[in-house]
Amino acid sequence: MNPKHYTIPIFIPEMACPFQCVFCNQQKITGTQLIPVDDEIIKKIETHLASFKEQNRRVEIGFFGGSFTGVPFEQQKHYLEIVQPFLRSGEVAAIRVSTRPDYIGEKQLALLKEYGVQSIELGAQSFDEEVLRLSFRGHTAQQTETAAKAILKEKFKLGLQMMIGLPGDSLQEALKTAKRIIELGAHNTRIYPAVVIKDTVMHQWYEQGKYKPLSLSEAVEWAKQIVPLFEKAGLKILRVGLHPSEGLLSGDELVAGPFHPSFKELVLTEIWGDLLKPLLKTKKPGGVLIRVPAGQLNAAIGHQAKNRKMLLELFRAVKFVEDEKLDGREFRVVVG
Ligand code: SF4
Repeated sequence: MNPKHYTIPIFIPEMACPFQCVFCNQQKITGTQLIPVDDEIIKKIETHLASFKEQNRRVEIGFFGGSFTGVPFEQQKHYLEIVQPFLRSGEVAAIRVSTRPDYIGEKQLALLKEYGVQSIELGAQSFDEEVLRLSFRGHTAQQTETAAKAILKEKFKLGLQMMIGLPGDSLQEALKTAKRIIELGAHNTRIYPAVVIKDTVMHQWYEQGKYKPLSLSEAVEWAKQIVPLFEKAGLKILRVGLHPSEGLLSGDELVAGPFHPSFKELVLTEIWGDLLKPLLKTKKPGGVLIRVPAGQLNAAIGHQAKNRKMLLELFRAVKFVEDEKLDGREFRVVVG
């Protein structure tokens, strides 16, 4: 059986990021995120390791948050050194880091390799030069391509993250970005909807009517078209939707945009909804039993049972069951 995957996240903010991406509140990052001290990092790893129940597991440490390769070189080295004992003991199998595409060079890759980093995730956001320019990303799509190729050449696992709904973005461009991520040979990806966070450039633009975020249903629709592309290409989708941080959940940080704590569920619900909709044409409906692959039950029934309710408009009774023999999004229907 495949081992259960765990990632222990260590947040390393880049204290003096020289960029000003339109969606990012740098002040908030630098003002509230403290650089963790060594003891805190070690304690965090130990606490996580002690909490994992599965014996058959694969644990990674992830240096996330800012751009890991953007922090001073000696500091990167220091963080990587702190976690080495966990790699040596075998409790942790690998390290992953996230960074900006223009912070990847030979020197950085050599350091990451030396310390057992296996995966590098790049915040690509878009492969459309205009979207990147309008979002003040400070790097080009060409730079992302160069970095992605260098990462793969050095035999790291490559992650390319994308954002949907940035200034200048369109469904067509987002689909092109997803296809480019696949063509470049990324192993994994994350899809984040762009939202308007307080005190960002996008906040100003939103108030001035210069930027309109996607509605929740638009963002779900875009992601619904992107997710199957990645699935078909065999990319691992590590995340769909923003992490529901306290500020987003309470609404303190969120001004507008398609934030939903169960965004991925909404997307999977719609994917299943499209597959199940043809059943509404069933002649002489009675009850219906739908067999779905193991692990797909919740998505098939839908967020707040949306798909079940849709079918109940026609069928007297609707039952979903898991069937180990089915795979992907196969399903079998028995109409009674
Ligand atoms: S998102 Fe942009 S502005 Fe914010 S920390 Fe990252 S690179 Fe800097």
